[in-house]
Amino acid sequence: MIISEILKNRAGFEEKLRKMIGRPILLIELDMFALPCGCAGITANTRGLEVDDLEVFEPQMLALVKEMAANLEVKPSVIFARLVPGSSIVASLNWRVLCSRCYPDFARGEGKTPRPDLYLLQFERRK
Ligand SMILES: [Zn+2]
Repeated sequence: MIISEILKNRAGFEEKLRKMIGRPILLIELDMFALPCGCAGITANTRGLEVDDLEVFEPQMLALVKEMAANLEVKPSVIFARLVPGSSIVASLNWRVLCSRCYPDFARGEGKTPRPDLYLLQFERRK
């Protein structure tokens, strides 16, 4: 059952992304993951997506990534794009439920790009 959901969401997300941006963006792989540290979430590997697209379509993009999280029943503490530093390439979109050890890595920096390889779409700061 869950595999059919992932397949459906991969196709649906790719189609909506293409419609929104108006270019043939590829979602080459959609993965759900669990790490030894306790982090878990979703990764969508992309081809053809650029940093500019995130900035220009930010509100629509945010709605789209939130919809994906809800569809796959993931409550991410951070949603971010993984960038290729020094280029305009977005390598992947990531939804992550952070463990307490990894949380400071994201909380340390300021603004949308706390690290050269990260572009934050949504981040829930703990109190
Ligand atoms: Zn972690």
